[in-house]
Amino acid sequence: MLFIEDLDFQGKTVFLRVDFNVPMDHNQQIRNDARIQAALPTLQYLLDKNARVILASHLGRPKGKVVSELSMKPVAKHLQKLISAGVKLAPSVTGQEVELLKRGLKENEVLVLENLRFDPAENTNDPEFARELANGIDIYVNDAFGTCHRSHASVVAITGFITKSAAGFLIEKEVEYLNKVIRSPQKPYIAILGGAKAWDKIPIIQNLLTKADTILIGGAIAYTFFSAQGKGVGKSLVETDKKEMALSLLQSASGNNVDFELPEDHIIASNIGQPENARIVSDFPIPREMMALDIGPRTIEKYISIISSAETILWNGPMGVFEVEEFSIGTTSIAEAVASSNAMSIVGGGDSVAAIAKAGVEDRITHISTGGGASLEYIANERLPGLEALSEK
Ligand code: AMP
Repeated sequence: MLFIEDLDFQGKTVFLRVDFNVPMDHNQQIRNDARIQAALPTLQYLLDKNARVILASHLGRPKGKVVSELSMKPVAKHLQKLISAGVKLAPSVTGQEVELLKRGLKENEVLVLENLRFDPAENTNDPEFARELANGIDIYVNDAFGTCHRSHASVVAITGFITKSAAGFLIEKEVEYLNKVIRSPQKPYIAILGGAKAWDKIPIIQNLLTKADTILIGGAIAYTFFSAQGKGVGKSLVETDKKEMALSLLQSASGNNVDFELPEDHIIASNIGQPENARIVSDFPIPREMMALDIGPRTIEKYISIISSAETILWNGPMGVFEVEEFSIGTTSIAEAVASSNAMSIVGGGDSVAAIAKAGVEDRITHISTGGGASLEYIANERLPGLEALSEK
């Protein structure tokens, strides 16, 4: 795979795929521009080399239709405030008008295409659409790490129509850190996995069974494991169709000598909206009308002590419903423990990143991944379609 510093961009027309999928409020105001800021080094590098930059991103889920609330207009406007180069907005993703604007673009100028997902051909990796995107382009640069697990036209198919491709600085950094945990993690290597979706985390747990020394489980996913062991978990979130898989993971963990930790106590309540009746329990069964919504104090203490001995930490997924103050203590405590450790720490996933921000410890984490799904899939499969597409060049 080539990186942008390997290529000559002088006067070239470059297609830059970024992830500017920023959160917006009801008035189409950008609530947080971190994703735009994150891609600025790559964009500025290309502009400093006098490239003509065609910049493309998806925004939200317009499902293949033009949705005016999901136009790239506010994003282009915001970008113009951040860089001195001229920024233009194309009226659509492809078509005659876009072609004219592309051809008229001057060196050190940016043309922002409309939301890629306004066209259904983006998500289906349609080669004809990819060929149109690639029209008139000399070099393809991908800096959208968070989209690299998707086989979409602007991520994968497009590279077949452009002779030169490279990864931007953001992807370079993501790959560098993730490769460290994949290939040569310093031991002890502690993985912390939580959140709500067991189906999402099970493939990574499977992969980690041969790599990590300890796996700490929190969040709702723990209750799929407990339920698989035949324990009564009340109304806690369980993915019934993943129970068999969960049981076989538990067996593999003991066979592989991996310390696989499930919570020893739980904060339970009758539901998320009723934190006032929350209490700590450590025994099963959890009462039928109650659900587990955070890890308990004994678990927190145990997990903190394990984390303090780590040399490598990988964390994805909150320990509880951290959005509700009363169920956020587990996640905040783990965030602080990860930040206090001397280990190389990698945190991925929107919610774990939000928890890190809530705890105010961002600057004490070695690497905060911009792509939760992409980083999980990369760790699980050691490949991503978007990176393979860049490597095939
Ligand atoms: P995920 O996208 O799988 O990482 O899940 C993140 C979500 O999991 C957050 O919105 C949390 O509120 C939720 N979550 C974490 N723990 C629990 C739990 N014990 N019960 C229900 N939801 C949970």
